[in-house]
Amino acid sequence: MDRIHIEKLEVFARHGVCSEENSLGQKFLISADLYKDLHEAGKTDELTATVHYGKVCEFITKIASENTYKLIEKLAEEIADKVLIKFDVDRVKIRVDKPWAPMLLHVDTVFVEVERQWHTAYISIGSNIGERENIINDAIKTLDSFEEIRVSAVSDIIETKPYGVTDQPDFLNGCLEIRTLLRPGELLAELLLIEASFGRERKEHWGPRTLDLDILFYDSECILSHDLVVPHPDMQNRMFVLKPLSQIAPYFIHPVTGEPVCRLLEKLESREA
Ligand code: ATP
Ligand code: CA
Ligand code: CA
Repeated sequence: MDRIHIEKLEVFARHGVCSEENSLGQKFLISADLYKDLHEAGKTDELTATVHYGKVCEFITKIASENTYKLIEKLAEEIADKVLIKFDVDRVKIRVDKPWAPMLLHVDTVFVEVERQWHTAYISIGSNIGERENIINDAIKTLDSFEEIRVSAVSDIIETKPYGVTDQPDFLNGCLEIRTLLRPGELLAELLLIEASFGRERKEHWGPRTLDLDILFYDSECILSHDLVVPHPDMQNRMFVLKPLSQIAPYFIHPVTGEPVCRLLEKLESREA
């Protein structure tokens, strides 16, 4: 992948665990790699087709000099996230050097380096109590309102019969594609908070709900932990998931079965025929 590299931008700032560091300050050297396809800029010679590295340098200087953190880990993380949110770039590597850290031993430099990127996730959304349509539309707006989440595609919202526990009202279901800086566990925590803010109560398994938000895929990761399983383990058996999902991501490959979503849908349709 092409990249724009900024090497050792000098910033005077006050990060550190010792109080003297916070009051006196010292020089930090900040380096950045911005990964981006530069073909278009190379062909057209237009600044709008690339990222303005002068603006990135000013932006990094502002973050580093206007905040005081204990750790350069925190500074690197903040810079990475904010650069990804502000500039049109998918992946960044940020290195913060602190060569003049106050200690009685000599080192040439000490640095922390982090690599961060936008991730793609697919979310299933459903509701079968209350103003279902409004709830779904408002939940999508809520998701999109977070700086670290961008809703990039929304399927049609379809009416479906309840699955599993069938003596309950019909559902509205759909699927979303999002781009996010959150890690899978952080994303799940955010989805559970949003469900709660729309009055979700958990009384019976697969019972009626104002809002259900499930993670179907997170990049091509396979996650198995006590509170999160991705890809969603039952998605291949659910028409109300595969139909809307195959509208927005027909060729996305299920990382466990190796099949594209459209193939999973075809298989379920022939099983249910
Ligand atoms: P199902 O997951 O079979 O559709 P459900 O959506 O009704 O059932 P919930 O009561 O909404 O289940 O969720 C129970 C727990 O499932 C959540 O608190 C969460 O920890 C866990 N969970 C595991 N994997 C996922 C996932 N991929 N997406 C959302 N929640 C998950
Ligand atoms: Ca669910
Ligand atoms: Ca759920």
